[in-house]
Amino acid sequence: MTMLEIIEKKKLGGELNEQEIIFFARAAANHSVPDYQLAALLMAIRLKGMTDRETMLLTMAMRDSGDVADLSGIPGIKVDKHSTGGVGDTTTLVLAPLMAACGVPVAKMSGRGLGHTGGTLDKLESIPGMRVELSEDEFIRQVKEIGLAIVGQTRHLAPADKTLYALRDVTSTVDSMPLIVSSILSKKLAAGSDAIVLDVKTGSGALMKSMEDSLTLANTMVEVGKMAGKPIVAVISGMDQPLGTHVGNALEVREAIDILAGRVKGDLLEVSLLLGGYMMMLSRKTVTPEAGAALMRQAIESGEGLKKLKEMIAAQGGDPRVCDDPERLPQAAVIRTIRCEEDGYVQAMNTTGLGLAARDMGAGRTKMTDQLDYSTGFVMKVRIGDRVTKDMPLCELHARTEEDADRAAAQVRAAVRIGPEACPRARNIIAVVIGDYAKNAEARQ
Ligand code: URA
Ligand code: CA
Repeated sequence: MTMLEIIEKKKLGGELNEQEIIFFARAAANHSVPDYQLAALLMAIRLKGMTDRETMLLTMAMRDSGDVADLSGIPGIKVDKHSTGGVGDTTTLVLAPLMAACGVPVAKMSGRGLGHTGGTLDKLESIPGMRVELSEDEFIRQVKEIGLAIVGQTRHLAPADKTLYALRDVTSTVDSMPLIVSSILSKKLAAGSDAIVLDVKTGSGALMKSMEDSLTLANTMVEVGKMAGKPIVAVISGMDQPLGTHVGNALEVREAIDILAGRVKGDLLEVSLLLGGYMMMLSRKTVTPEAGAALMRQAIESGEGLKKLKEMIAAQGGDPRVCDDPERLPQAAVIRTIRCEEDGYVQAMNTTGLGLAARDMGAGRTKMTDQLDYSTGFVMKVRIGDRVTKDMPLCELHARTEEDADRAAAQVRAAVRIGPEACPRARNIIAVVIGDYAKNAEARQ
């Protein structure tokens, strides 16, 4: 078998077999064929598509291109969560401490920001002293001791994806359903959990901007999960505006603390409780997601959730005092409120544009080596559907310099549409794809 034969077969629309797909994934991991041939096959897949079976085989082959984490040392059913990426999307920092407070172990491998979206690791690193690179032993020990750890993915998980993702980024092949599914699921399966909750974002700030694509992605993930023997629940949630009001690393940690302390409610809490509720269900702590969410609410009221976050921060070398005194988080030099320029209703937001505004303020990267400024970003003061009047606060900018604030002000204004007609609120939860396999997980085991 040669790489050229595999490329030719897919070019003509053929279905690749297991040996061919394994050959491809290994070649990507080992760099044993030239990048131009890998890229040619990626484009053939982008144009000709893959069957669910091919997508499953590619997912498994990419998973097996490196190590698979062994979490069996941690008692109980381990449930992972993955978001396809959003803006102000801080659900992990809200739900993970609450679940741990409810006695469900959370062994979470998270990622960094990508493009206009934020990443949990970057947010955590805004806490002074916080370490997110733990060895596998440290990681497992911490979850056994306090029930919670959030760390970076070890280098040896799904190395095929590292090669392929970098090539896709520069060959216009990111937007391929089988390549997205195999990229995300190979990493999640290699992370070693027993079940997965996927948060598929849809809307102006999401990878998938149309509902149709979001549903296809959710259904394919659930189907591939079934073939791989992992119960998966896929939630489709709205990303037509930032999920939380805070966008930026330290700002998002602060919002998560405010929610855990019971001071703040809203869309971020609602989506966190739904995702966490399904995680609690898959871990068999509760029979329904609603019951799981109710336990998590109790952990806010009792303060146990915030206590867990504190324990995790301390265990990972960070300053746990930020939980009682968020002023200890990095503070921006310039804080400026910008105001609405007219009366009307908030009708739409270009959420990708908002994410890019935060990135340009220093909250995200344009290249891998960029240093973040953890203090920067903004706090949105309006939501879609709000009635506003001239001079009401629109957004509070947290910037490095006056010039950065000027630029961000223009970007935020351009991203928020205010018009005369009333407009409904944006929906948070649009659909949940469970599939019989996850539904029957309890009966099977
Ligand atoms: N996130 C990933 O990890 N891979 C993709 O292909 C898209 C989003
Ligand atoms: Ca995220």
